[in-house]
Order: sequence, then C-alpha cells, then structure tokens
Amino acid sequence: NQAANANLFSRLFGGLNDPKRLAIETQDGAHISYGDLIARAGQMANVLVARGVKPGDRVAVQVEKSVANIVLYLGTVRAGAVYLPLNTAYTLNELDYFIGDAEPSLVVCDPSKAEGLAPIAAKVKAKVETLGPDGKGSLTEAAEKASSEFATVSRANDDLAAILYTSGTTGRSKGAMLTHDNLASNSLSLVGYWRFTDKDVLIHALPIYHTHGLFVATNVTLFSRASMIFLPKLDPDLIIKLMARATVLMGVPTFYTRLLQNPALSRETTRHMRLFISGSAPLLAETHREWSARTGHAVLERYGMTETNMNTSNPYDGERLPGAVGFPLPGVSVRVTEPETGKELPRDQIGMIEVKGPNVFKGYWRMPEKTKSEFRPDGFFITGDLGKIDAKGYVHILGRGKDLVISGGFNVYPKEIESEIDAMPGVIESAVIGVPHADFGEGVTAVLVCNKGADVTEAAVLKALDGRLAKFKMPKRVFVVDELPRNTMGKVQKNVLRDTYKDIFAKK
Ligand code: ATP
Ligand code: MG
Repeated sequence: NQAANANLFSRLFGGLNDPKRLAIETQDGAHISYGDLIARAGQMANVLVARGVKPGDRVAVQVEKSVANIVLYLGTVRAGAVYLPLNTAYTLNELDYFIGDAEPSLVVCDPSKAEGLAPIAAKVKAKVETLGPDGKGSLTEAAEKASSEFATVSRANDDLAAILYTSGTTGRSKGAMLTHDNLASNSLSLVGYWRFTDKDVLIHALPIYHTHGLFVATNVTLFSRASMIFLPKLDPDLIIKLMARATVLMGVPTFYTRLLQNPALSRETTRHMRLFISGSAPLLAETHREWSARTGHAVLERYGMTETNMNTSNPYDGERLPGAVGFPLPGVSVRVTEPETGKELPRDQIGMIEVKGPNVFKGYWRMPEKTKSEFRPDGFFITGDLGKIDAKGYVHILGRGKDLVISGGFNVYPKEIESEIDAMPGVIESAVIGVPHADFGEGVTAVLVCNKGADVTEAAVLKALDGRLAKFKMPKRVFVVDELPRNTMGKVQKNVLRDTYKDIFAKK
C-alpha cells in the first residue's frame, strides 16, 4: 500500500519483476543486475543520510565514470537530495566557482583529489567524501557496511532531482535545475519514441556528468530494463567489436566521424545493431550520408539541451532527414519566433527556437533574473538557438544566436555557409564566424579542416562559393587549420575561434 511518490527513483524501478536482469556491464568484467543497483543505491542513500544529507541538499560529484558513480546518482535521488555532477576535466580553480555557486552539503571526489578540494569545500561548510572507481574511498567503504533497506524519500513532481551545469560553450556555465518529473517524463517519452525494450543493449561511451550520458543514455536504458555496456571513453575498435552483441549506440557527432575512419566499420559489423543516435552538436549531413552508405543505417539525430532535456528527434519510422533534428517529442511544443518580439514566425522562416513542455527545467540555479529573461510570458523557454521549421514539420537548427554574424547590416547564418563549404571535395568540416570589421561590423570568416594532402586554398574556396552565395554572405577570409577547437562534448568552440582571429581585419 504505497503512496504515489514522484521520486525519479521510484518511477525508475517501480514494478521491477526480474531483479536478476543485467543493468550494467563494465570493461573490467563486472556485471551489475537491477537488483544489485537498487540494493547498492539503498546502501548509499543510508550513508548519505548518516552524513547529514537532507532532502533538497546538493551532492556535488566529480568522479570518473563508474558503476559506483551511478550508484551515487541513484542513492542521492533516492534520498531526496539533488545530484550535481561536475565535469571531470574541471580544475580546482573551476571547481572553486562551481562549489561556491552550488553550496553543496557534500562534495564527492576521487581519493586523489580530496586534499585539493578540502579548502574549497570548507568555504561552503561542505564535507568531502571520496569514491574511487576501484572500490576504494570513504563513501564506498561506508556503503559496503550499510543496510540496503531504505524507504525512498517522497518527492513532488517539481522538487529538484539534479542540477546540471551547461557545457559553457557560449559563456560561463549555468546551473540548470531539473525536477523529478522533468527527468522521468522526458526519458519515458524517449523510450517510446526510440522503441527501447528490455532486449536492448546500449553501448555507453559517453561521460555521465552531462545530460546526454546521464539522462538520455542511462535513464532511458534503466526505464526500459535494457542493459548498457560502459566504456570509459570513445574507443572505435572496441565499439565496433561490441556492435556484434549490442543494439543501440548513442554518441556525439565526433563518434560517427571517428568510427567512419575505421576500416572495420561495415554493413556486416553493424548487422546486429538496430539504432544509431546522435546529438549534443550538429551532425554534418555529409557524415549522415556516408554513414548510411557504409552501414545501411540512417543515424537518428535528436536535439536537446541541459535546460530542456530532449526537445526533438528524427522519427523512428519515416525519413531521418540529414541536417535536421526531426519533430517535437510527444508533449513538447516547439515554435520559431522573431527574437526581439517573440512573435511566432511562419514555416520556413528563420528565427529563435522556443520550447515548452514537461521537459523544460525549473530555472537557473540562483539566477532568478536570468531565468525570467529566458522565458516568454506564456511559458516558452528561449533556447538561444536559431532555426526554422520546414513545410513537413522538421525542425532545423541553424546555429546559436550568439554565433549569428551580422555583416553590413545583414544576418548571415553560419550553417548555411558551412554546409556549402563542407560539400566541397577535400573539406572535412568548417566553422564560419564573425570577426570585428571596421566597415562591415563583422567580417564573415571561414575556418576549414581538410583531408591530408588535399590542396584546398583560400582562392579555391572563394571561387567555388562565388555565385552560390549572395555577396554579403561570402567569406572575406578563409583559413585552413589542422583541427577545430572543441570542448569535452565535441562542441566547436566558436568563441575560441573568434578570439584567435579577432585582429585579422584590424586597420594597420
Ligand atoms: P552553454 O549553454 O553553457 O553555452 P551549451 O549550450 O553547449 O553550453 P548544452 O546544454 O550541453 O550546453 O548544449 C545544448 C546546445 O547544444 C543546444 O542549445 C544546441 O545549440 C546544441 N545542440 C544539441 N543537439 C544539437 C543538434 N542535434 N544539432 C545542433 N545543435 C545541437
Ligand atoms: Mg546552452
């Protein structure tokens, strides 16, 4: 006789009838069943409570990807506290900012980091506990001795389950407050849309401090009673080997470009797979087409953000349109507006992408003004992404508002020019940015990565674009580089590029 509990944990594991079912398998041969996961989450929840963690408290976690970390995530949520993962690449200097901002009651880190973090945690009166991947660490050891019985703390739909900091691609990362219902409803919607079942085996090679690896990959798998194979990082040889017994791969576009460089990728080696999903950054139409030709599978691209979970997805059946991010998920409304006024624009017109639905977060942590300014009065969230909805209803992302180039008073959408350049022989990828220009305000500048040995010159690119693009969209300069700057989620850092080239049009 259980009262309805909106706690994500109860929703994830309610009605589990086969505790022996495999949930996670790791590279060192560990096999964790659903029953193990629930029992270990109970032990962890007991330890957290014993350490003084109360419902609503933040538990800040900078720990490598591991089963122990997943147990900590589930135990935290189960105890009614707020899981707050931090990018494992963050330095002490960065952690000082995040921990100061989040004011957690507990900081959990790898044993090797405890000493460095102690003074930072002390500033906000947080305790430090350690959790090693190898079963060492104060929290792990305490959990082993704790009881696995734990009454999941009752939570309301809009209580916080997690705070995730955005990737910091366009500026300083913001803490997105995600509720139990945000996470549960979005994952359940994806389970249906992507036809996940308990027969699925996911290749999980994403980090778990980001919405992609934590919520899309992990929650969707657990809700379906499927299993996942944990890889610490992208390893193309191993992924191709695992495809012989897995069914789904979720990756960022870099996964697909790297896998395409591997000669072992073929129809034969992907035969057992049923679904390839890409997101977190734009998948080049070229990559999409090459992947289809090589494997016979059309990659399914979806679009989401830390703040909104997943918004749109290409269809499971029906055309997975290269270069588009598909349709709004069930229950999610997507519209395109004139950025300044919020007036809705007709189909095919480019404007600001706005979304509304149970997936959309509760607001930015301790930024009430910022939160207010990012929502319209009727509740739509202003994503900051520019795009359009085409005649068939597919959503297209044309880049971020902050990356829009305004040259001579005209709007130039980088993606339009990038698509033209990417289609040129010898070009792998490109990034178009605006660089301060005395006459035009901003000068369109293209930065390219080309195949080794391809002789792609500035003059050749300009000649190829001439006549294909209006004059105001034509790059004023073209640079060929070895690689584009990317963050840990594979997103191109255009602000880094803007900084690199900031003086090229300066008057001497
Ligand atoms: P910050 O908000 O701190 O600048 P960020 O926006 O990169 O960082 P995330 O929440 O990780 O942080 O990323 C969300 C963004 O990623 C979206 O707003 C969008 O610009 C981009 N994105 C995600 N999926 C896609 C996709 N399929 N195609 C194009 N862009 C995508
Ligand atoms: Mg963002």
